[in-house]
Amino acid sequence: MLQDVSPMYHSYEIYNMSIVIAIDGYSSTGKSTIAKRLAEALDYIYIDTGAMYRMVALYSMQAGWVSDGRIDKDALVAALDQIELSFVRDASGENVAMLNGLNVELAIRSMAVSQVVSAISSISAVRQKLVAQQQSMGQSKAVVLDGRDIGTVVFPEAELKIFMTADSDVRASRRHAELQAKGQSQVTLSAVRDNLLQRDEADQARSDSPLLQAKDAQLLDNSTITPDEVFQVALSWAMLAIAGKA
Ligand code: C5P
Repeated sequence: MLQDVSPMYHSYEIYNMSIVIAIDGYSSTGKSTIAKRLAEALDYIYIDTGAMYRMVALYSMQAGWVSDGRIDKDALVAALDQIELSFVRDASGENVAMLNGLNVELAIRSMAVSQVVSAISSISAVRQKLVAQQQSMGQSKAVVLDGRDIGTVVFPEAELKIFMTADSDVRASRRHAELQAKGQSQVTLSAVRDNLLQRDEADQARSDSPLLQAKDAQLLDNSTITPDEVFQVALSWAMLAIAGKA
């Protein structure tokens, strides 16, 4: 059974102390893990903005607008109004990405999508559409978003900004293990590592909303500490930020 968790239909009490938590950083640094745990602990909504760019990439691939790494940008931009992105929660409480009403959670995590998504996310018209949707999803606060431009562009006034980094070998091993667990056993560790580094480079180099640490973001290096330790640090920052609002 899928439960609709789109914020516009989600009725919850808005507390004075609700804040926006923006988590940005390099690929596979554990942003989504920490964002999900924070959202659960604080009873906030979690928005995986990377999943939204991945859904647009998948749509473009399915439409035949991606070949040999080249994208038919005009066709994509002309069809943007036909792309509907949402999230639902499955029976185990996990967020599920929905593209035009279809569950694409597994498909958007494939290497094929990872190889195209940074090029898709560099298209300004795509960013404008997705940023507007993210801002509307987070307008009532009580929200944790993870991505690349949340603290710099989507919510520059976010009360807590975290910028995550980690050693590239550690990131590649973790991502590789995740893909294996999802059944993508043919993907090699070096292919995963190359993809992470290429995406980081493209995300930092693009002219529209490049990946960078906001001046007021707290840096969190996830190379050697455990997920529980990362969570404790992030939660303590969140409590301080919430206390500052109360
Ligand atoms: O977070 P994830 O690795 O799933 O993001 C996939 C890609 O989507 C990133 O490599 C980046 O190109 C793009 N992205 C973005 N802005 C965001 C979130 C993701 O450009 N806010």
